[in-house]
Amino acid sequence: MPSRLSYPELLQRYRRKHGALVEPRQGFASLHPSLHLAYSLGRVRGFTDLGTYVPKPGDHGGSPSKRRPPAWAFDLGRKDRFLFKGWDYLKARRLALLYVANYKALNIEYVILGRRIWSRSNGWQPFTRDSSHDFHVHVSGHHGEVW
Ligand SMILES: [Zn+2]
Repeated sequence: MPSRLSYPELLQRYRRKHGALVEPRQGFASLHPSLHLAYSLGRVRGFTDLGTYVPKPGDHGGSPSKRRPPAWAFDLGRKDRFLFKGWDYLKARRLALLYVANYKALNIEYVILGRRIWSRSNGWQPFTRDSSHDFHVHVSGHHGEVW
């Protein structure tokens, strides 16, 4: 997928190829609408839903001012749990790079895979807090004005 397409362009391309957006396990209302396309792009590539809203601090817990759905983050895995290879799991790396290449249109603030984190402010950096991203991709949304 070429980068630097706009959200409407990406959405149109997605719809032509895949049809409707994919509903999160917890329902569309569990995830901020600005992230529905990014989420669906992962699901149609064979990734599984490891959660959207979680009642705890952080982007999974909604906006900082109100701890309720929708979440500003989602987690995607695969049945084989990335073979616990994180960044070295090619399918997951491709998805992470797709997100980063289109971060603006997809309203993405940061992405974590394996022991790496990409953010708007710092680009790619080592991620050392824990090893849970060896088997899932985390995506956080950008709290922009448009949405
Ligand atoms: Zn997460």
